[in-house]
Amino acid sequence: MKDELLKLLDKAYAPYSKFQVAAIIEMKDGKFIPGVNVENASYGATICAERNAITTAVTMGYKAGDFKRLYVMVSGDKLSTPCFMCRQVITEFFDKDCEIIEMGKDGTMEKHLVADLCPYPFDKSDL
Ligand SMILES: [Zn+2]
Repeated sequence: MKDELLKLLDKAYAPYSKFQVAAIIEMKDGKFIPGVNVENASYGATICAERNAITTAVTMGYKAGDFKRLYVMVSGDKLSTPCFMCRQVITEFFDKDCEIIEMGKDGTMEKHLVADLCPYPFDKSDL
């Protein structure tokens, strides 16, 4: 997965922060869905790689429960977990026992469960 993430990292559109992010979702049916961060001159219009991949999966017809694992690589030297806006969207589609894997360009990696990164989610049960 490291090579796929490295290749995807180059596709990130990050002219302002220079912080490139690549995300790949492994679906339960075995498909892999990519996403990169896409920045905008109006910074608030920027979308993260994780949400880009998730919305692509939804566009392709996937539903909550179809998501298995999320891989994330950033251009920085340290591993990064998804931002909290992405964590909110992750909790909408990923089960609590799904893995989120942060992978470095050198192949180092950390693994977290959705339940660990999103311990008190705001979800449909709150509405
Ligand atoms: Zn994010």
